[in-house]
Formats: sequence, structure tokens, C-alpha cells
Amino acid sequence: MCAAKVIDGKKFAEGLRGRIATAIAGLKSDHDLEPGLAVVLVGEDPASQVYVRNKAKQTVEVGMKSVEHKLDASTSEADLLAVVEQLNNDPTIHGILVQLPLPDHIDENKVINSINPDKDVDGFHVINTGRLATGQDSLVPCTPVGSVMLAKDALGSLSGLEAVVIGRSNIVGKPVAQLLLQENCTVTIAHSRTKDLPGVVGRADLVIAAVGRAEMVKGDWLKPGACVIDVGINRIERDGKNRIVGDCDYEDCAKTAGSITPVPGGVGPMTIACLLHNTVHAACAIKGVPVPEM
Ligand code: NAD
Repeated sequence: MCAAKVIDGKKFAEGLRGRIATAIAGLKSDHDLEPGLAVVLVGEDPASQVYVRNKAKQTVEVGMKSVEHKLDASTSEADLLAVVEQLNNDPTIHGILVQLPLPDHIDENKVINSINPDKDVDGFHVINTGRLATGQDSLVPCTPVGSVMLAKDALGSLSGLEAVVIGRSNIVGKPVAQLLLQENCTVTIAHSRTKDLPGVVGRADLVIAAVGRAEMVKGDWLKPGACVIDVGINRIERDGKNRIVGDCDYEDCAKTAGSITPVPGGVGPMTIACLLHNTVHAACAIKGVPVPEM
């Protein structure tokens, strides 16, 4: 039985995209500003192709300019850097996203750090991670922003809450922990070497799981009433069918949690919505106009 409130990320993301579309219509009419997002994909990774297709579709739907660069898997690092440089210098482009992972012969950090930080809508450039860590205005990675938006929607103020983030990646775990600190949570980052993970998780009013291990977090780990934000996307086979599950055992956790995101339909849909949100922020900052309410 599911006692927990289900946090509907799909619905929240739809609402956010609607507000972004309204904001863009205002920017076009009031400031002659059409935000533009460029996505660069190297190679034919099927999951990346799906993400890039969805990004382009949703970018156009909210009224933004969308540009895609699809490069062959054998593209050299120098040629990729040249594409990024061209986009850095393109005044109609305000957001640049290089889809990860990149082929092994390309240095990911070098490419990410070649993006103009003001156009780095993924928020992975070292300047943006530094700004985030020091509490300065920055472009913040999309999945962490979306995760915290959902937690605030479920809990209201997060101030003073015990938050446990499971996972310490640069893409999710670390930036989500920084955002929770900004929200005045008491933050613990747990990871693969954490001793007694269930005991650590049991302290949390808010659990954010970003591990990549199917259904690892169990209901009896949780403090009763905890809010669970499940970032994990894991493909498994069950009953002869391919399924996508999170890092939390949803049925089990929903018995103890106060609120929980499903997978799919929780954090996943928030990522692209937050990418569009970041692109509007970047466009306004570059053009020097106020960021509209979204
Ligand atoms: P990652 O592999 O870079 O990092 C995983 C982290 O989990 C590591 O820091 C590791 O220390 C920790 N970890 C591994 N095993 C553990 C264990 N047994 N106990 C505790 N911690 C453990 O992964 P990532 O890029 O941060 O992604 C995490 C998950 O989130 C993946 O399932 C990924 O698919 C998903 N994800 C979803 C979105 C989205 O919703 N749009 C975006 C990014 C990532």
C-alpha cells in the first residue's frame, strides 16, 4: 500500500514549461530577445539520441530557437572545440550543451571548460561549479535544480532539515548538496564508501538518491515521513519485460516515506524543463534584461 504522497514531476515540469513559454513570449515582445539553445551530440549513443531529440522538441515548444550539431563518433577533439567556439561567438545562441558522455578520445573536461561560462546551461564549467560552491550567481546543473524544486514543492521550506544525498558525482550529488546547503539544510553526502548507509539515511528528513543502483534504498532505511527524491534511472528486466526503476525500492519506500518521486515520472522530466529555465536565465544575463518570473 502506498501511504506516501506521490510527487508528480511530469506535471510539475509541464507547469514549469508553460511558465517558461509565457516568459519567452514576453522577452520576444518586450526585449526583442529570442533565447537560443544549441545541443552538440558526438556519436550515435541511442540514449543520448533520445535525450537530444526530446531537448530539441521541448526547446521549440516553448518558443526558443533550437540548433543541433550532430557530429560523427570519429570527430576529433579539435573539430569539436571548433564547433563550441563557433557557438560561443554566435549572438543568437545563449545556451550550449555538449551531450555527455563523449567518445573516449575526447577530453570531456577540456570541452566543457571551452564553453563560454555565460552560455554553460548544463552548469558543468569549472567557473560555474566554483560560483555555486561560493554562493555566487551561477548556472546550476539541471537535474539537481529540478530535484530541489520538487523537494521544495513537497516540503515547503527546507531550512533546518536533515538532508542526505546519496552519490557524490559532479553531475548530481555534489551540486545537489550545494543547493541544499543554500536552502539551509544540514547536509550529509553519502557514497560508495559510506559505512552503515541505512543508518545515515535513517537520519534524513529529505533523501536524494543519485547512485545508479536499481532499488537499493529500502523502506526500513527511512525515517518515517521522510521526503524521497529518486534521481536514479536504471534499466532492468522483470517478469520478462524491460523496465526503468529508480535507486529506491518504490513500493517499499512508499510505505514509510511521507512523499516520494516515482521513476519514471519524477525527477526525469524536470531535467529538460530546468535546461530551458537555465537558457532563459543565460539569455537575459547576456542581453542585460531582467529575468522574468517562471
Ligand atoms: P555516477 O555513477 O557518476 O555516481 C554515482 C555515485 O553513487 C558515486 O558518487 C558513488 O560513490 C555512489 N555509489 C555507488 N554505489 C554506491 C553504494 N552502493 N552506496 C552508496 N553510494 C554509492 O552517477 P550519476 O551521474 O550521479 O547518476 C546517478 C543516477 O542518476 C544514475 O542512475 C543516472 O542514470 C541518474 N541520473 C538521472 C538524471 C535525470 O533524471 N535526468 C540525470 C543524471 C543522472
